[in-house]
Amino acid sequence: MNTVRIPKIINFGEDALGSAEYPNNALIVTTAPPALSDKWISKMGIKDYMLYDKVTPEPSIGDVEGVISEYKDKNPSALIGLGGGSSMDVVKYAAPMLNKPKILIPTTFGTGAEMTTYCVLKFDGKKKLLREDKFLADMAVVDSYFMDGTPQQIVNNSVCDALAQASEGHDSKLGNDLTRMFCKKAFDKLYDAIMNDRPQDYPYGSMLSGIGFGNCSTTLGHALSYVFSNEGVPHGYSLSSCTTIAHKFNGSQFYERFKECMEKLGFERMDLKADVSEAADLVMTDRGHLDPNPIPVSKEDVMQCLNDIKAGNL
Ligand SMILES: [Zn+2]
Repeated sequence: MNTVRIPKIINFGEDALGSAEYPNNALIVTTAPPALSDKWISKMGIKDYMLYDKVTPEPSIGDVEGVISEYKDKNPSALIGLGGGSSMDVVKYAAPMLNKPKILIPTTFGTGAEMTTYCVLKFDGKKKLLREDKFLADMAVVDSYFMDGTPQQIVNNSVCDALAQASEGHDSKLGNDLTRMFCKKAFDKLYDAIMNDRPQDYPYGSMLSGIGFGNCSTTLGHALSYVFSNEGVPHGYSLSSCTTIAHKFNGSQFYERFKECMEKLGFERMDLKADVSEAADLVMTDRGHLDPNPIPVSKEDVMQCLNDIKAGNL
């Protein structure tokens, strides 16, 4: 049997943010300062709401408990996560505890988190990746409105993540016919948008990617990327080389087009300060990404990939 989980309602496309219907007396949860959240909320056209804007970036279970203790007795009709991953993660965890529906509105794009059953929170100071059906949104709103004013490098890193997730997800051994359909559509949409300078299509492509990979997995590209993340390279940036070399190693149908996109976006060669053999040992522990890779990966393979990344031999 195959199972695919997607939010009950997905609003996307032109003016999704202003056209979607929001329930009265919902609690909006955000990390954004009032100057910004006021602007977003007026664009939503929502009048009757409560606002909690004390969520900290990279939130912990303490942030979730803060929301619950402050609003349990105020009986909100729903929780709305308005912001990047942090705001959405808090709502993903808190809404089921309050037995309320959740609405996710990403103001950044790339991870596709608004479509997935993943939730990242800190417990005892340590980040944990959780995955449960109850983290899925009841409604999501995806609108390119929020891209306005986002620095170009952040946009590029984000679209690289979405493109990597779509193509790695497509090739994942955990995929099925339906996840491959979403991943393929996501890749085609993002490829067209990158090559033809239509960044306004990125959030939609990222959303499709989230549905696709979120119901299977990413693979070798993501496994390789974490040793670069450990040295401070942003996640999306590290995938520019890591997913390219992974697609080459796997003989993926996406290799040429992925590489074309990376060149168009202007990503540069990355160095690795860590010892390649030690880094490869670390990569090899990441079974969650390596086991679903379309072909088996040895430590020697990983070392070759890391050396090729360092040499720019992609
Ligand atoms: Zn990713």
